[in-house]
Amino acid sequence: MAFTLAAARVAIEKLNSLIEGKKEYLTDLDSAIGDADHGINMNRGFKKVMEKLQDKEHSDFAGLFRDVAMTLMSAVGGSAGPLYGTFFMKMGQNLADKKEATVEEFASAMQEGLNGIMTLGKAVLGDKTMLDAISPAIEALKSNPGDERAAWTSAADAAEEGMKATIPMLAKRGRSSYLGERSIGHQDPGATSSWYLISCFRDALTEHGGQ
Ligand code: ADP
Ligand code: MG
Repeated sequence: MAFTLAAARVAIEKLNSLIEGKKEYLTDLDSAIGDADHGINMNRGFKKVMEKLQDKEHSDFAGLFRDVAMTLMSAVGGSAGPLYGTFFMKMGQNLADKKEATVEEFASAMQEGLNGIMTLGKAVLGDKTMLDAISPAIEALKSNPGDERAAWTSAADAAEEGMKATIPMLAKRGRSSYLGERSIGHQDPGATSSWYLISCFRDALTEHGGQ
């Protein structure tokens, strides 16, 4: 079983629905250590993504993820739009001409995406950002090369753990870093939406992988 283009599209649709349902929660998290707009930003961005994807057929991951990326970059105010946009853009470029990807291929594409976020945002692991959920997920994919289902299950679990691990962290990048010590004790909103992203990929793979 490999990750298919159809499954990736399902993952994006699932993410849109999940974010819609979690919009207020994400915004509440951002109100504690930011400017209370992460849920609004993500919801607006993914709604626009769904409009963009409507009636569109893509021939490879690069085309699908480019549409997602360009929409997020232009529709989402704040840092999360360009950062997630870069993630999808780089990930897609790494999967150009492919309609199916093994877990190893997907992990290295996600690594490229993560590198893009790091280049743009200058954050490192432990700075209390989305990286802290995405990076452990990639490591989990890399350490389960044989079994797609097990790999994506452990990736989503690792992202959730990484998200929870942001609670005691001191923010060093983004708006929350302005709070200094007062950022400690709050879960990072971007790490939370990143956990949603990984969990939607897991669910799409489980339901639609290999089709
Ligand atoms: P803004 O901070 O501009 O209001 P959002 O509220 O939509 O944008 O997104 C905030 C999230 O973006 C943070 O919780 C964090 O995870 C992520 N973030 C902010 N700055 C950076 C950065 N430099 N590198 C990586 N992630 C970042
Ligand atoms: Mg914000």
